[in-house]
Amino acid sequence: MAKPATALKQRTIDLLNQRGVNLEDIADLVIFLQKNFIKDLSPELALDSVQTVLSKREVQNAIITGIQLDIAAENHTLLEPLQTIVERDEGLYGVDETMALSIVDIYGSIGFTNYGYIDRVKPGILAKLNAHEPGIIHTFLDDLVGAIAAAAAARLAHDDQGEQDTPFK
Ligand code: MG
Repeated sequence: MAKPATALKQRTIDLLNQRGVNLEDIADLVIFLQKNFIKDLSPELALDSVQTVLSKREVQNAIITGIQLDIAAENHTLLEPLQTIVERDEGLYGVDETMALSIVDIYGSIGFTNYGYIDRVKPGILAKLNAHEPGIIHTFLDDLVGAIAAAAAARLAHDDQGEQDTPFK
């Protein structure tokens, strides 16, 4: 079971919720990534892995920073040219992805593969965050949510691998 949330972790979860992302949505992405590889992957196990990833300070920092920038862009308070770049979610900007990779990095190369895949396919909540509805900006959040799921899936993959490794004879 996940440990009780610290104040910063709880704040991070509250901010995600306020921006329309529930932890169950992220757990669904974890299941999407790992269902063919881990037998008996339950929603509870996926959610537990998401909770563990969210317990990391560097993950919390990335999320509160990214969400803050999205909100500032919605309020038109970023300096130009950043305001226009974030508002348009310009493909060549890349700092949103870089920030997300700092989360993915925690659990190694499986995380990178997962992130690249989910970022291309954009299932579930990621499609919703990428809808580019007028006045709503999720330039950072979509990448961060994909990264949390990728890291949580990589964690589970590592655990599963540990159990399946056959000992040398
Ligand atoms: Mg983005």
